[in-house]
Amino acid sequence: ILPILYLITPTYYRLSQIPDLTRLANTLAHVKKAHWIVVEDAYHESQRVLALLNQSSITYTYLTKRESKKARASNLKGVSQRNAGIEWIRQHHIPTVDGVFYFADDDNTYSLELFEEMRKTRKVSIWPVGFAGGRAVETPKVENGKVVGFSAWSPEREFAVDMAGFALNVKVLFDHPNMKFSYNTENSFQETEFLQQCCTRDDLEPLADECTKILVWHTRTENPDMGFVKPQDVK
Ligand code: UDP
Ligand code: MN
Repeated sequence: ILPILYLITPTYYRLSQIPDLTRLANTLAHVKKAHWIVVEDAYHESQRVLALLNQSSITYTYLTKRESKKARASNLKGVSQRNAGIEWIRQHHIPTVDGVFYFADDDNTYSLELFEEMRKTRKVSIWPVGFAGGRAVETPKVENGKVVGFSAWSPEREFAVDMAGFALNVKVLFDHPNMKFSYNTENSFQETEFLQQCCTRDDLEPLADECTKILVWHTRTENPDMGFVKPQDVK
């Protein structure tokens, strides 16, 4: 039987939110046994997001969690939302069921093959990410099936990987009941600080043909050109 895939997506209101989520929903509609955990950085659910989720065929959970002032002041993105997502899994996943979780930001571009690759994750898996870290691709260096280093921004990080470049088996959340994203770090160290709580480099399972294929891109949506219309007028 296929392991269930939990896809945790932090999201927040801006003009491109619904278009970005529409594109992601269209992608996830093709993924079998996916459970989309959408966590909005807000106090209340948004009717537009709710309508989009209801129209899609995807199994979903919609949560809201406002980012803390402290995290926002340090320019952290998505911390409270991702933590709310993993806490939901801890509370609702049936531990005897095999499952994998992944952080799918709302504006990235995901190939369908990526989801089938990550389903293989026994503990922690890793793969290249296009357009991350100020280069065409950030990738783990693989020798004889093992990750031996990184071609990435700040490769001295224990895990020099973008949020889009790894997945974990849900059993890790139960083996490490306190693991979560930190509010006391810089945004670019979120991934490594998270993974250091549960794993060593030696644990890494390189996917995507030994990290030779790019299956996800850290794309970013440009703010729409509103000409002379002020965004607050169209909200
Ligand atoms: N995000 C959020 N609240 C914010 C800013 C970002 O929930 O105030 C979410 C956003 O929707 C995305 C993730 O956090 O899913 C990463 O943010 P973003 O894509 O802006 O970061 P970047 O790609 O620029 O690193
Ligand atoms: Mn992004």
